[in-house]
Amino acid sequence: MFSYRHAFHAGNHADVLKHMVLIAVLKHLTQKDAALTVIDTHAGAGLYRLDGDYAGTSGEAEDGILKLFSALAPAGKAQPAIKDVAPLIEDYMAMVAGFNPGGTLKVYPGSPFVVQGLLRTEARDKLKLFELHPTDGKALAANVAQLEAGRQVSVAREDGFEGLKAFLPPPSRRAMVLIDPSYEIKNDYGKVSACIQDSLKRFATGTYAVWYPVIPRPEAHDLPRRLKTLSNQAGKPWLHATLAIGQRDEKSVIGEPERRPGLTASGMFIVNPPHTLKAALQLALPQLLEVLGRGRGKGQAVEHGG
Ligand code: SAM
Repeated sequence: MFSYRHAFHAGNHADVLKHMVLIAVLKHLTQKDAALTVIDTHAGAGLYRLDGDYAGTSGEAEDGILKLFSALAPAGKAQPAIKDVAPLIEDYMAMVAGFNPGGTLKVYPGSPFVVQGLLRTEARDKLKLFELHPTDGKALAANVAQLEAGRQVSVAREDGFEGLKAFLPPPSRRAMVLIDPSYEIKNDYGKVSACIQDSLKRFATGTYAVWYPVIPRPEAHDLPRRLKTLSNQAGKPWLHATLAIGQRDEKSVIGEPERRPGLTASGMFIVNPPHTLKAALQLALPQLLEVLGRGRGKGQAVEHGG
């Protein structure tokens, strides 16, 4: 069950989509004065090395954050590949750059650090993190301790699907929930739908963001459909964004090991999204695709309802 380690995937195209959307949602939600509670049900280790063994082995960041930076913030006098970069992409790149003051990308922030950077001390915003993997749970606790954020951030080595229930509704009646499982076991798909259904009963006005992989598996295909149905039944607006970077256009070289195709597409489904998100994504996603798109199957889409 515990073979998934996010360190292999940190900074890949799926993280780019997920964290870019996360920042956009949080920037909107933190415009109101009242305290916000953010719950990250599947938090991971929090911080990742882009130059470490895990990332080096997988090479996934090369088709994600590293490609984005070399195209849009090239070293030396080279011109960026796009002139007017969309604000969502700019915000996302600025956040990652903030973790890499030397200029070279060495560290990639996972969702706990992406979120914490946007929380307000004066508003008493809170972040509740769940991570079940023993090693990543320990790493997360150690990384969070370095923040010295006190009671603003808490870490629980528990099942996030279950743990979430105790926080809904939050005392301030304002919450954002990120549900980002590894989908290592196919039960996760059903658990995500059940979790959204239950959460909407407990706290219908919360903002819920679900990441999922776009892969040829019936459960993965059904998930956004089920989430749309649940949102519509609850009378809540939703937004669904997908980014597919497509297949790698490369011929296999005799004598070289073939690279595994890996994940080529993913989606973010948001219940009760900010009203500004659709237009912002319609600007950002085509640009992301221009930079990260590879070959056959590439594409992007934003749809909404409710
Ligand atoms: N949200 C992180 C980010 O964006 O940086 C990445 C999370 S990773 C995709 C999924 C994580 O969920 C893994 O670290 C895995 O160990 C953990 N996990 C798996 N099942 C879990 C559960 N039931 N509750 C909490 N964490 C779980």
